[in-house]
Amino acid sequence: MEKLLIKGGFVVDPSQKLEGLADILIEKGKISKIERNIPPSGDEEVIDARSMVVAPAFVDPHAHLRDPGQTYKEDIESGSRAAVFGGFTTVVSMPNTSPTTDNPAIVEYQIQKAQKVGLIRLLPAGTITVGRKGEKLTDFNALKKAGAVALTDDGTTLTDESLLKTALYWASDLGLLVMDHAELPSLSRGHLNEGKVSSLLGLAGRSRSAEAIAVARDGFLAQETDAKIHIQHVSAKESVDLLSLFKEKGVNITSEVNPNHLLLTEEAVLKYGPLAKVNPPLRTKEDRKALIQALAEGIIDCIGTDHAPHASWEKEKPLDQAPPGMLGFQIALPALVKLYNEGLITLKRLVEVLSTTPAKILNLYPELGTLKVGTTADVVIFDLKHEWVFDEKINPSKSSNSPFMGRKLVGKVFYTIKEGKIVYRGKS
Ligand SMILES: [Zn+2]
Repeated sequence: MEKLLIKGGFVVDPSQKLEGLADILIEKGKISKIERNIPPSGDEEVIDARSMVVAPAFVDPHAHLRDPGQTYKEDIESGSRAAVFGGFTTVVSMPNTSPTTDNPAIVEYQIQKAQKVGLIRLLPAGTITVGRKGEKLTDFNALKKAGAVALTDDGTTLTDESLLKTALYWASDLGLLVMDHAELPSLSRGHLNEGKVSSLLGLAGRSRSAEAIAVARDGFLAQETDAKIHIQHVSAKESVDLLSLFKEKGVNITSEVNPNHLLLTEEAVLKYGPLAKVNPPLRTKEDRKALIQALAEGIIDCIGTDHAPHASWEKEKPLDQAPPGMLGFQIALPALVKLYNEGLITLKRLVEVLSTTPAKILNLYPELGTLKVGTTADVVIFDLKHEWVFDEKINPSKSSNSPFMGRKLVGKVFYTIKEGKIVYRGKS
C-alpha cells in the first residue's frame, strides 16, 4: 500500500473546523496524521501542496454516466476519469440508463464495472418506479441489497402523489434516500425557461411553477411521512423560499444546485443554443442570485453536478429537439471558485457543499467528507488561482457538450486521491 505525505498545503476541513497550513500523512488507505510539520521518513511519496488547498475529496449526488445503453455519450470508465479530473471520488449515478436501473442486476453491473476501473466509488441510484414509468414501484429491498443508495426517477417526477407517499414510507424504512427531479410534467412541456427568451424564440417554455409546486408537494409529503427527501437541481427562487420554510419547520428536506444554474441564465440559450439547454432550465438573473445566496446560507445544502454528457450530433439538433443537459464534473470546482473569488461564499463553505454535506446527505459521513485521523483517505488538492482552458485535449469525457468548452476557467484540481491512492494527477 502506498504511503503519501502531503506537505505544505492549506488544509480546509469543515468537519474539524480546520483551516490552515498543515501536512497530512496517509498510510494503508487512511489518514494517519495531520500536523503542522511532518518530516518525510524516506519511504513515502511526497506531494508538494504549497500554494494549494487540501480538502476531503468531492462527493457528487447527481451524475449521468450513461452506462448501460448510451455508452456513445459516456461510460463508467470515461465518466470515472471525468469525475476524478473534477476532484470527485464518490459519485451517485442516475438510473435513466437504457434499460433503466430498476433492477438489482444493473446496480451490480455498475458497481462491478466501476470497481474494475478503480477510480471512483460508484453508488448507483435505482429508479422509484419500474421503467421510470411512474406506475409501479420497483423492489426497493432488492435494489438496496444490490448496493443502491438512493431512488429517483430523475428526468421526470412522479405524478401520482399517493405512489410517491408510499415510496417515501418504504424507502425510509430501508434507509434509502428518495431524490426528486421536482418539475411537474404538465407545466414543463417546453425546452427553456418560460419567459423573455422563450417568447423571443417562439418556443414553449417550462414554467417556474412546475418546480415550485413539486417542491411544495415533496416538502409536505416528507413532513407527513417523516421521511427524508432530496430535491435535485433547484433552479427557481420560489423553490428557495419554500425550502427555507420547510427547513424552519424541521422537515427532513435537503437540496442541491447545479454549477450551470449558478453560472448561467436563460440568455445563455441565445448565445450557446442547445448547449445551454438543461432541465430544469436556466432561469433569470434574480433566480441565479437567489440560488447563490441560498447556497451560501445553507438553505440549499450542496452541489450536484448533473453531469449529463450528450454526443455532438445530438446537441447539433434544433433547440426543440436536442436533449437537455451539459457536462458537470469538469466545471463544478471552477464554478465554486468563481463565487469564492467574488466574495459570495467562503472557502469553508466551498468545501462543505462539494464534500462534507453531500457525504452527510448520503449517509457516508463520518467515513467520507472529512480528513479526520483514522478515516478513509479520499483527498482532493486544488489550486484556487490556476487558470486553464477547458478544451478537447484536456477533457476526459466522451462528450464535449458544455458552453464552457474553449473557455478559460479558474480553479484546477491537481491531485485526486481515493483510499490513499492517487487516481488523478493534473498537469499545469
Ligand atoms: Zn433531473
